[in-house]
Amino acid sequence: MSGQSKLSFDGGWEYSAAPQDTSMMQLEKQYGLFIGGDFVAPEEGGYFDTVNPATEEKLASVASATDADVNRAVKAARKAFEGPWSKMSAADRGKYIFRIARMLQERSREFAVIESLDGGKPIRESRDIDIPLSAAHFFYYAGWADKLQYAFPGRSAQPLGVAGQIIPWNFPLLMAAWKIAPALACGNTVVLKPAETTPLTALKLAELIRDADLPPGVVNIVTGAGETGSAIVQHDDIDKIAFTGSTAVGRSIQQSLAGTNKKYTLELGGKAANIIFADAAIDQAIEGIVNGIFFNQGHVCCAGSRLLVQEAVADEVIQKLKDRMETLIVGNPLDKNTDIGAINSSAQLERIESYLRLGQEEGAEMHQSSRSVPDAGYWCRPTLFTGVAQSNRIVQEEIFGPVLAIQTFRTLEEGVTKANNTPYGLSGGVWTDKGAKIFKMTRAIRAGVIWANTFNKFDPTSPFGGYKESGVGREGGLHGLSAYARLENRA
Ligand code: NAD
Repeated sequence: MSGQSKLSFDGGWEYSAAPQDTSMMQLEKQYGLFIGGDFVAPEEGGYFDTVNPATEEKLASVASATDADVNRAVKAARKAFEGPWSKMSAADRGKYIFRIARMLQERSREFAVIESLDGGKPIRESRDIDIPLSAAHFFYYAGWADKLQYAFPGRSAQPLGVAGQIIPWNFPLLMAAWKIAPALACGNTVVLKPAETTPLTALKLAELIRDADLPPGVVNIVTGAGETGSAIVQHDDIDKIAFTGSTAVGRSIQQSLAGTNKKYTLELGGKAANIIFADAAIDQAIEGIVNGIFFNQGHVCCAGSRLLVQEAVADEVIQKLKDRMETLIVGNPLDKNTDIGAINSSAQLERIESYLRLGQEEGAEMHQSSRSVPDAGYWCRPTLFTGVAQSNRIVQEEIFGPVLAIQTFRTLEEGVTKANNTPYGLSGGVWTDKGAKIFKMTRAIRAGVIWANTFNKFDPTSPFGGYKESGVGREGGLHGLSAYARLENRA
């Protein structure tokens, strides 16, 4: 691995490595496509490698699904929908989903290790956030399966049929859970495609689903890149498309779905602002900012990638942030001390680095932590920009890396105007001692989720989704359930 046994801090003391045991993890050398309850070889697409971004070593080879494979998966899903799944009692459907949730909890450490190996995120995060939240989503939606008649008063909820689901690489298992759990609870069947750089936890989930004895074809998992996703979107026998990913791809999917009968939800990019008022608890806010943009390498759609700080406390906040950045450990994702893991792929690292150059060309001042990073693998030190203008591309565009653009404001109104001045509207954060200010800000900011005096908090009962170019529809909670149902007025 990236080999850091001792980490020294400026203060002179040293930090011993705390490596995560990996002996419980089992990976095959090669994975086929999970279709009709079993792993099958791709018809003609061959295989591609998935690598560990912290070491650049190959982890496994994974099948690349073509149109023919997607067609097989959709047929298996249709057969399961018309066969056992939609005819099963809702209580029994719920039992299967509960079983998946329990099995995921039992195998949580194995899933966490694989998530960190394949995606580069620190084990602390996959262990404490990704996997427990994934299980929580299955538990939550399992509970709704036999209570659908109470979920939407006056209306009955019918399944849509076959759902095609396409997910990104930043929260691989969690995004799979967000999509599969409500779909199954409503009686749909699924064809899911994970991102090409992080397919392994979805494939492990396929194994778990097989072990849970789910009827064959209820969940199908096909791997591949954008063409495989496109084959799902274009398939005639799919009733609903659920996509999470970039705004550019989401837009093209929306265009190709126009005029079809397919229902869709699109969860897209973000450029959230953390807004700090002078009356905020500053040290607490610093932790919120660090959590919002630096943890998980800034690979978070709702990352607090902008900071709006009230002028009176700007110098103090920026200095405290710089000090805190020096203490953040960038390195081996499987070390329990690590704060910032590996960037997910070389392509993503290039993209982040191009924004670092761009920010400086635009005239902003860049500051990076001075911490060392490992030699092999893809790494980016935590970075902040000051002296940025609202029109700068580093303020307007999603970078998806540990890069923070800082602006100041004087009045509440100016803070709101600046916060709203991007094409996105996924999330935001408000830091203040005054409750009234919180309510004012949360009404004025056009974003789907706004946290107050905290950041990046998730719960399966709570809907999540964006305004403007951040997407269409909501996932999570009852809203997420309704996205997988045809609601009919009761007679
Ligand atoms: P991406 O759009 O490149 O890819 C997402 C998925 O779509 C991948 O599985 C990819 O293979 C597939 N895909 C690519 N081209 C396709 C096409 N033409 N048709 C169908 N599928 C296609 O995004 P990414 O780089 O993997 O993920 C990062 C993006 O995801 C960021 O913009 C982030 O903000 C967004 N995201 C949003 C949310 C949310 O809930 N709003 C959550 C997580 C990530």
